[in-house]
Amino acid sequence: MPEQGAALAALRAAVGPAHVLTEGDLSAYERDWRRRWHGRALAVVRPGCTDEVAAVVRACIAHGLSIVPQGGNTGLVGGGVPDSSGTQVLLSLQRMNNLRAIDSANLTLTAEAGCVLQTLQEAASAQGLLLPLSLAAQGSCTLGGNLATNAGGTQVLRWGNARDLCLGLEVVTAQGEVWQGLSGLRKDNTGYDLRDLFVGSEGTLGIITAAVMKLAPLPAATTTAFASCASLQDCVALLMRARSRMGSGLTGFELMGRFALDLVATHFPALPRPLPGAPWTVLLEQSDNEGLEPARERFESLLGAALEAGEVQDAVIAETLAQAAALWHVRESIPLAQAEEGVNVKHDISLPVSAIPEYVQRTDAALLAAFPGVRLVNFGHLGDGNLHYNVQAPAGQDAAAFLAANEHAINSQVYDALTPFGGSFSAEHGIGLLKRDDLAARKSPVALALMRRIKTALDPMNLMNPGRVL
Ligand code: FAD
Ligand code: ZN
Repeated sequence: MPEQGAALAALRAAVGPAHVLTEGDLSAYERDWRRRWHGRALAVVRPGCTDEVAAVVRACIAHGLSIVPQGGNTGLVGGGVPDSSGTQVLLSLQRMNNLRAIDSANLTLTAEAGCVLQTLQEAASAQGLLLPLSLAAQGSCTLGGNLATNAGGTQVLRWGNARDLCLGLEVVTAQGEVWQGLSGLRKDNTGYDLRDLFVGSEGTLGIITAAVMKLAPLPAATTTAFASCASLQDCVALLMRARSRMGSGLTGFELMGRFALDLVATHFPALPRPLPGAPWTVLLEQSDNEGLEPARERFESLLGAALEAGEVQDAVIAETLAQAAALWHVRESIPLAQAEEGVNVKHDISLPVSAIPEYVQRTDAALLAAFPGVRLVNFGHLGDGNLHYNVQAPAGQDAAAFLAANEHAINSQVYDALTPFGGSFSAEHGIGLLKRDDLAARKSPVALALMRRIKTALDPMNLMNPGRVL
């Protein structure tokens, strides 16, 4: 088609012909991590700098092409892959991977959107600093994707989510302009907060090209333990005890249900299985600026008191860094073990921590009554009130067929049950395509109308990731 030829020529002029991919196997860009969505792009465009991103956006405006930004393509809600029209531009930020600066006195890091999160963590660590954003996808997710989804992960309890860690942004707007907002200031009340509009906007308002993130001094010691609990009430009691004993030293409190750990044992038999058979297992992490000995003593006394109080049935404290890493590895293998078991109905819900035991008890019972034999994979960031309350097909049933037949009804049940507790149906993964209809159905009409006005004001041609979120 001649129009497509002209559009492709404009894109090639913007980034150079080598970085406009139209042929060969593009499934790494066109299919999502969960393999639920597989679209087709007009082209995969890989700009190398902010000016090239702006040039791509201007070419897309001129030719009426919509843009799907993509970082590491680890998103779980179908927000970062093109639709099947063959007309969208998949804008991959992966080549924009420069770490621009670390300012150790200001405790900030400035990096481009395509930097892989783990690479940034390692660069900060080499200077004795901590970038306190951590998630199981950190070996491939990117800073831009983390901010576009306002990612959470395993350190939110102490440090907050990606939004809380972000001080400034550089953004290419839907008009193809560059907003230079790379401030490293902790205080800056100069009008509306544009940064917070783009954080969590999932590529629908503009393209994040770089960001300034907060750092912290690396802790002198980190200690990690697994503790088994008989009930969710006991897990919550342990959380309260750990918080009052350790304060801000408590940097991780992850929950793992028995079936979630059974799946890890089945699919990754080489991994350790501490405290087998426990109904609930908690991973606790403590970070300390004083050193290993006081940290270990505090941990031992906490777990001893919890054992005595009957909140904990058994516990193991990692003796070495390698053991601590192995415990984290077990926790982080749950999503992968689930993927090995087959597609499942994923949920990413949040509730007041105090409401979690009752919510889970009621919802487990209702799901098992309505869908006999379903297997509940419950794990997540209990310290943040965030559960990945996933539903796996009954053993022996075809997982894909079960998902297709029951996903909608299961979602309704899980999400409706949140309402009396004031919970949310999307805690950290975002809306994308997967939860767009839920957002429309469950968010207040006033909030939705405000969101639509913001979208129209910033992206009047609806070129930025159309059909996602709203
Ligand atoms: P992508 O998947 O490429 O994109 C995600 C969304 O952001 C899309 O809508 C895309 O259009 C948009 N986007 C990407 N880059 C930009 C940009 N530069 N500018 C504008 N928009 C952009 N998430 C959590 O929050 N907590 C977890 O604990 C967690 N654990 C995970 C574990 C596994 C094994 C996996 C596979 C995923 C997990 N996720 C988790 C989800 C995912 O990793 C995060 O949402 C991550 O932040 C996405 O980053 P990405 O670079 O892969 O983004
Ligand atoms: Zn999570």
